[in-house]
Amino acid sequence: MIEQLKNTLNQSSNIAILTGAGISVASGISAFRTGKNKVWDEETLTYGTYAFFRDEPVQSWSWYLNRFGSIRSKEPNPAHKALAELEKKALDDNKNFHLITQNIDRLHHKSGMNNIIEIHGNIDHIRCAKKHPTCDHGEPFGSLPFFEGIMQHFVNNPTLETLPRCSLCGDFLRPHILWFDEYYDGHSDYQMQSALSCLESCDVMLFVGTSFSVGITDIALRLLLDRNVPFWVINNEPKPPNKPLLKQAHWIEGKAELLLPRLL
Ligand SMILES: [Zn+2]
Repeated sequence: MIEQLKNTLNQSSNIAILTGAGISVASGISAFRTGKNKVWDEETLTYGTYAFFRDEPVQSWSWYLNRFGSIRSKEPNPAHKALAELEKKALDDNKNFHLITQNIDRLHHKSGMNNIIEIHGNIDHIRCAKKHPTCDHGEPFGSLPFFEGIMQHFVNNPTLETLPRCSLCGDFLRPHILWFDEYYDGHSDYQMQSALSCLESCDVMLFVGTSFSVGITDIALRLLLDRNVPFWVINNEPKPPNKPLLKQAHWIEGKAELLLPRLL
């Protein structure tokens, strides 16, 4: 079946890829979800919200740093590298090739890819938390580079006083990621419009390591089905029997880091 996917990609001129947490597991980053039913764990649903950040900014930052602090040292695995190679090959052949990733880990960047839509934000930036009225360092357009030192006082002594603040308006700085109570069009860096154009124009789509439990995968599946575009899935888990949107998926069960290099 992987050979069939390889042929399909070779024959396509407008390729879209969407990656989820599963692609980074081999890099030592665990997925958000746990348990047999693969639902979001309660902690993530509670702490991963703007509302929680506003109520408990110290706890929110502590949770974020605890959960994602070690990600910055992780490296791409053969799955990321294979996608970077596929992109290079496609661009050399004057094809369109776009990647949408749910991951904030930056491993696609580290693997040398170019056309990356980080639909959920990334760990290498932060921004002002202010929403109304907006601040130039916050949404919908502003962000600042994250560097380890910026959180050092807070890490040594996590209190409201040591939380980093915006130099323009004095509000707290926050992670540059999409929280569960926020929207894809909340920040231009999520590139929702580019994601939609890519989903509306691709002639084949490959999903890698996603559990289809976030908004963007539902949007993608509906747009693909509307246009009758073939789509493939590489996933460690078997195809879920109770998800009608996935009925037409060409599903390849297996590890991305083993399967994707075989597409080269
Ligand atoms: Zn500000």
